[in-house]
Amino acid sequence: MPKKKIIIIGAGASGLTAAGTAAVSGAEVILVEKMNIPGKKLRITGKGRCNITNIAGIRDFIEHFGKNGKFLRQAFSFFFNTELVQFLNTLGVNTVTERGGRVFPGSNDANEVTDALVQWNKKEGVKIRTNTKADKLLTDSNRITGVEIVTVTTAETDKQNKEIIKADAVILASGGASYPGTGSTGDGYSLAKSAGHSVIPVRPALIPLDTEGDTASHLEGLSLKNINVSLWINDKKNSEEFGEMVFTSRGVSGPVILTLSKTCVDSIYNKDKVFISIDLKPALDHKALDSRLIRDISSSPTKTAKNLLKGLLPERLIAVCLDQIKLNPDKTANQITAEERKKLRLWLKDFRLKVTGHRPLKEAIITAGGVDVREINPRTMESKIINGLYFAGEIIDIDADTGGYNLQAAFSTGRLAGISAASDDSITEKENDESA
Ligand SMILES: Cc1cc2nc3c(=O)[nH]c(=O)nc-3n(C[C@H](O)[C@H](O)[C@H](O)COP(=O)(O)OP(=O)(O)OC[C@H]3O[C@@H](n4cnc5c(N)ncnc54)[C@H](O)[C@@H]3O)c2cc1C
Repeated sequence: MPKKKIIIIGAGASGLTAAGTAAVSGAEVILVEKMNIPGKKLRITGKGRCNITNIAGIRDFIEHFGKNGKFLRQAFSFFFNTELVQFLNTLGVNTVTERGGRVFPGSNDANEVTDALVQWNKKEGVKIRTNTKADKLLTDSNRITGVEIVTVTTAETDKQNKEIIKADAVILASGGASYPGTGSTGDGYSLAKSAGHSVIPVRPALIPLDTEGDTASHLEGLSLKNINVSLWINDKKNSEEFGEMVFTSRGVSGPVILTLSKTCVDSIYNKDKVFISIDLKPALDHKALDSRLIRDISSSPTKTAKNLLKGLLPERLIAVCLDQIKLNPDKTANQITAEERKKLRLWLKDFRLKVTGHRPLKEAIITAGGVDVREINPRTMESKIINGLYFAGEIIDIDADTGGYNLQAAFSTGRLAGISAASDDSITEKENDESA
């Protein structure tokens, strides 16, 4: 029985998983990666710490992926978070679980995870060809037959570098279109389209937002913890998130903002009126906060307003607060009027920033849109259009919040695509076709 020959396009989280899995399942596997090393994006995930997965259940995972979450049910059922952690343990990567159920390597080093996957691929006999770009999918009568590749040189690629590799199956695991410096430049979308697939327009998800004026730039680098941020669209509260955010030179970022950003991006395209409201004291309702302010004022009547606020706000936020509520910083606490105290309370519960835009796709943590899930078999990850063509990872129209969900999807779909592609069904079908 000849070995099934499989080409995997892209050595990211999904491609490395698919390639190793296919090799373990008995296939001859070539993994082509256009960058000079595998896993460039994986190496920078989780700020270099790699939030591998989350301990949440399948139902929670599916919810985090929104409307296309159900597409992932079979892939998750096949290879989920406990299997991933066990598998990484067998490769020598220990893990720790942190706040919010986020799982990281014990070493806090994304390179450890990436290198372990690369070594596993090599051990299982996967031929990894770096500096090799997949340029064209070759098909015949709705069946994949191979891939045309070009060797990436420092000069422009030329015809001499082209090569055709024949294959029984191809797994397209070329990622999204964000952080192009890692190699994820959206090539896979054109490859998929050339094979007849529909691609849902790509746009940024998990993206920092731009805000009006210079408030954010004055606060650049300031991180706020345990705050509640609400997203308001056309004066209606759309959603809210509790957690952490950070100010940037142009606006806002951090976990809470990234989670709210997908809805924001769609609203910005619709030209809706969008603002965020930060509740800096979510643990206190208005009544409790007012009592707290009265207590602070009466216990330190001669303190200036700016010193009084030190107990309530980070230093850098004090000037912004006093400026916005127009309270003289040198006014003593006992001179603060009831009206001024009310303004202060309202501001602490509702610090608003108008959202004017979002950072470009290249800065997104994840790409929304991609190959239409209706054209992929969720049980195998095989294309419903081209036999022998499979998809894995971010190239598919799936995207979730931060928390390890996106990488788990890449690992799960990679595993399922790898095992499905290596199964003998399609090669047997092909042999039957040929003998007929
Ligand atoms: C800064 C950052 C931090 C993140 N942190 C986390 C996190 O902590 N946890 C989490 O769950 N998710 C995180 N993500 C998201 C996560 O990294 C991605 O969802 C995941 O890496 C997708 O894996 P993939 O294999 O589908 O694609 P990628 O990792 O993008 O890999 C695709 C590979 O294909 C190669 N390629 C592309 N085109 C071709 C071609 N034509 N020929 C050959 N090779 C090609 C690329 O060079 C690339 O190596 C983060 C993303 C970013 C940008």
